[in-house]
Amino acid sequence: MQCFNHPHTAAVGLCKCCSRGLCRECVSDLDHGLACRDRHEAQVEAMNMIIEKNARIYAAAPKNILIGPIFFLLLGLLFAGFGYARAGGITDLPFLMGIAFIIFSVVSYLRSRALFREEA
Ligand SMILES: [Zn+2]
Ligand SMILES: [Zn+2]
Repeated sequence: MQCFNHPHTAAVGLCKCCSRGLCRECVSDLDHGLACRDRHEAQVEAMNMIIEKNARIYAAAPKNILIGPIFFLLLGLLFAGFGYARAGGITDLPFLMGIAFIIFSVVSYLRSRALFREEA
């Protein structure tokens, strides 16, 4: 491949922003990619920042997806235990609400786990 600006010079890489071939003279070597010198440096820097940000969010995701489900699970156990102990039966409303919370927590955990796996 040839340089986009210098048709007679071999390209050493591609700009991360516009994917044009760049020779040694035209290339600007940023930390995580190449950019057209004096043209797409800012754009590629911004892209790198977004990618890095996303990577950090995804790295934190396995912990974050547990917070919601654990909250509902505890709430469910509290309701179910309280309802069961007080009424002595499983047809009491607090108990049924507790069961609903527990089911909701399990479903939401499985859902967010599946979502995270798809995108990882
Ligand atoms: Zn470019
Ligand atoms: Zn060039």
